[in-house]
Amino acid sequence: MGHNPDGSITVSKLGDYAEFGYTLSATCEGFGCSRRPLAVTLEDLIRIFGPDWPFVERKPRIKCQVCGSNRISWIIGMSGREDRKTLGHSHTP
Ligand SMILES: [Zn+2]
Repeated sequence: MGHNPDGSITVSKLGDYAEFGYTLSATCEGFGCSRRPLAVTLEDLIRIFGPDWPFVERKPRIKCQVCGSNRISWIIGMSGREDRKTLGHSHTP
């Protein structure tokens, strides 16, 4: 659980992120993809890896469906805010 006896919270497991309203998204750092957003959500990760997965210590090993790379960057956000940066397929120079 994410609630500590002293009232503070610890967000370390996938279930904690969901409980406290965070979102997770992933982008592929593989060659050719240049940070293509992956179609994986926090809900997907919990379904696959379970809510007790220690996300902070151990990132889930997933692969990009497009290039097969496992060089994945994780982006943590807050849900309920609509000002999330656009994750469209952007080209970085
Ligand atoms: Zn890729």
